[in-house]
Amino acid sequence: MLIIPCPWCGDRDESEFSYGGAARPLPSLDADAEAWRHALYSHDNPKGWREELWFHEFGCRKWVVVRRHTVSQEIVDSRQPENPS
Ligand SMILES: [Zn+2]
Repeated sequence: MLIIPCPWCGDRDESEFSYGGAARPLPSLDADAEAWRHALYSHDNPKGWREELWFHEFGCRKWVVVRRHTVSQEIVDSRQPENPS
């Protein structure tokens, strides 16, 4: 069980959240289909720290960027996304 620190609601159980994948920039809206295919369907699976998007579905209903270790599951930081749209 993960405890995710929501910047607006405080520490909450992961069952309140939906996982949104790695926090990474998306291509521009006029990018070609290959760039969008790669962005949407090609995912790496690194060991170590990475930033992920989580949606606080049963809370404030906002996206949160969480810094989580993919092996130990430790979470050290969370913040508001830079471009919440
Ligand atoms: Zn929240």
